[in-house]
Amino acid sequence: MKKYLMYLLFFIIIIFVLPALCTKKQIEATVKENPPENIEIGQEEQQEAKTYDYSKYGTIKLYHSKTKETEELPIDEYLYGVVSAEMPANYEMEALKAQAIVSRTYTLYQIINNGSNKHGDAQICDDSTCCQAWISKQDRLDKWEEDVRESNWDKITKAVNETSGKIITYNGNPIDSFFHSNSGGVTETVSNVWGGADLPYLKSVETSGESDYSQYSSEVSLSKQELTNKLKEKYKDISIDFDKDDSIKILENTESGRVKTIKFGNVEIAGTEARSILGLKSTNFTFKIDGDNVVFSVIGYGHGVGMSQTGADSMAKSGSTCEDIIKHFYTGVDVVFVNDLK
Ligand SMILES: [Zn+2]
Repeated sequence: MKKYLMYLLFFIIIIFVLPALCTKKQIEATVKENPPENIEIGQEEQQEAKTYDYSKYGTIKLYHSKTKETEELPIDEYLYGVVSAEMPANYEMEALKAQAIVSRTYTLYQIINNGSNKHGDAQICDDSTCCQAWISKQDRLDKWEEDVRESNWDKITKAVNETSGKIITYNGNPIDSFFHSNSGGVTETVSNVWGGADLPYLKSVETSGESDYSQYSSEVSLSKQELTNKLKEKYKDISIDFDKDDSIKILENTESGRVKTIKFGNVEIAGTEARSILGLKSTNFTFKIDGDNVVFSVIGYGHGVGMSQTGADSMAKSGSTCEDIIKHFYTGVDVVFVNDLK
């Protein structure tokens, strides 16, 4: 009887189990060579999900300062022109993505907070000293060397497309996302540059790796007469007695080490004003009087508030993602999708 059962079990294995196993292996082999349709559909769906469908703020009315014309553009198409104007294309992909998110946020902030007041019907302009820089695709391509033209443009569009829809918020609202070129190792608190109240997300933070960039240090040398003439344009009664030890004196520095107030002869001015009158790259400067010249040694480039672009690139080189970079430069913020705004 036991023997009979053994034979029966043996036949069951031969007839049913083995063919089933073989068929399964065949199916697996077929799947590897020709993925079934449902897997392909899955991939298509993933790619479709990457193209963000803006229900809010999908376009921007851009004022061209040279032609004085206003053009309405899809927001991400507008951002190709902004990112490629604001950040070198040879920067790391995560830095370019951070720039795309920062610039998208800046754009939304302008739309929501009536940036339009400055430009009539338009919501933003293409002048970097007023809003943020923008360049047309043709002008951008013409300025790049031919051998990098296509790859640079692909990189910029990828940075914008892969962050499509993403913006930075604080307490649920888009932030005023200032950015600059090089902080010189520490960013600046917003009120030290433009006065007014401090913003909790624009605090001074330290950052590393910026000294590797050409924007880190610069020098401006002016003759005593040139210096006096520049200041006289604004302060007609200025008089600087260079024989005195304190003819020029830094009176106060900000917490980040930048010049807050400086005295030239009988006039005291803010560091930010000295920067603009004397054409310095930042307010982080020292000076020395060298014979007939006054030499200003400057660290960093730009106002120093918010994200440093070279700092972002340096962080990306060390493996930080675009969101790491954003959360480093803007304190306590979230990265969310535009349509999630209330
Ligand atoms: Zn503007």
